[in-house]
Amino acid sequence: DESELTELDVEGEEDPEVVTGGQPVLAVVGRPNVGKSTLVNRILRRRAAVVQDTPGVTRDRVAYDAEWAGRRFALVDTGGWEPNSSGLRAAVSAQAEMAMSTADAVLLVVDATVGATETDEAAARVLRRSKRPVLLAANKVDDERLVADTAALWSLGLGEPYPVSALHGRNSGDLLDAVVRTLPDSPGEAGTVAGPRRVALIGKPNVGKSSLLNKIAGEDRSVVHESAGTTVDPVDSLVELDGQTWRFVDTAGIRRRVQLASGTEYYASLRTKAAIESSEVVIVLVDASEPLSEQDLRVLTMVVESGRACVLVLNKWDLVDHERRYELERELDRGLVRIRWAERVNVSARTGRAVRKLAPAMRTALESWDKRIPTGQLNSWLSEVIAATPPPVRGGKQPKVLFATQARVRPPTVVLFSTGFLEAGYRRFLERRLRERFGFPGSPVRINVRVRQ
Ligand code: GDP
Ligand code: GDP
Repeated sequence: DESELTELDVEGEEDPEVVTGGQPVLAVVGRPNVGKSTLVNRILRRRAAVVQDTPGVTRDRVAYDAEWAGRRFALVDTGGWEPNSSGLRAAVSAQAEMAMSTADAVLLVVDATVGATETDEAAARVLRRSKRPVLLAANKVDDERLVADTAALWSLGLGEPYPVSALHGRNSGDLLDAVVRTLPDSPGEAGTVAGPRRVALIGKPNVGKSSLLNKIAGEDRSVVHESAGTTVDPVDSLVELDGQTWRFVDTAGIRRRVQLASGTEYYASLRTKAAIESSEVVIVLVDASEPLSEQDLRVLTMVVESGRACVLVLNKWDLVDHERRYELERELDRGLVRIRWAERVNVSARTGRAVRKLAPAMRTALESWDKRIPTGQLNSWLSEVIAATPPPVRGGKQPKVLFATQARVRPPTVVLFSTGFLEAGYRRFLERRLRERFGFPGSPVRINVRVRQ
């Protein structure tokens, strides 16, 4: 098997962030110097990354396309996130945690010539909680005589250790067979919902929902098709808008014009909530001609909490004069603090003003909602921001942020691994900086902090 490496040409620079589109993801984790990168190269069967003899050398490669026995998968090498010395155990545990939340399967690499260290045990402890499959590679088993020693690694509680020599390729085929058996057929996280994007059109009564729906449907000569449904199973409409088909959810609820007699408000809000939950992007209508009300704010809060993409539509713009416009800006400034990121369109469902701007705004919002920032870029942004403005000291301690990864899309969710608590003010500051750098218009962004030791 050795020949494979020597035969292969050394490849030039390629895109460090290979998109993992639709393939299951295997993350390789472990202490520095156990041979992760060598193993990754072995799996890729080429010298994709330069392996350094110096421990802790930062490598910028993150995800690669890999294939074994006809199965394709994305291989994530966590080598690049290794710290030099301080907080090694915390960092490796955090790395394991990150792998669990982002990958479909995790491969923990241990140096069999050293045995299980405290750091390995800490990582294993984290990985034992994983709902995803975890495999254990006992590396540097260059010689048959060493195989017996690897049995001690059962103590890590991760099942059978696979003895391999990443350097010589020994037994790496058996390990890969196990990897391929373990990987799910399709990636589990944030799978794409098939069919047209789902839109919820919401807002308090009389804000203009049914007028807007009729306008959209009428103007674009859209095919409005009502799929079969009952009262339990709300009826959606397929609407052709700006060259794209959208599924407006629960339009039956809009058309039926549920009158607000006492008590029904509760049911109306349940229905709104259900519409939001089944949507990907929410169009929130606000009546621009009236003061922003408690009811508007309740609806907006529901949207913020749902994590959906959002377009804020100020309707009845035909009634807005100069003076009202000024007041409105002040009301929005005060009322929309938590949803400043929303895309905004001023329309009139009556005259049709700016209605054609809706679809582009929804597209922008959904693009942000689906967007994934490569880990390398995220971490270089993070180290810049933290160097300039470190987290505030709490109880005499300066929390250290070890690294960041975007664990999820829909909405984008960034996980920060830190040695201490980061207060809300600092998290909001980070969110502002994140948006300055990467945008995300129209989508909420979540920042979660995982504290390690
Ligand atoms: P990483 O920091 O975990 O990515 O480790 P590297 O892949 O950079 O490897 C660290 C060192 O261990 C390098 O000097 C490798 O040549 C060496 N190494 C990796 N795999 C093996 C192996 O299977 N056998 C032996 N003897 N050395 C290995
Ligand atoms: P819904 O309860 O949210 O579905 O609101 P409707 O679409 O039934 O609209 C409530 C009232 O507002 C109706 O009298 C509409 O004609 C009126 N309306 C809706 N949109 C506009 C608009 O853009 N400008 C003006 N001036 N009136 C509007």
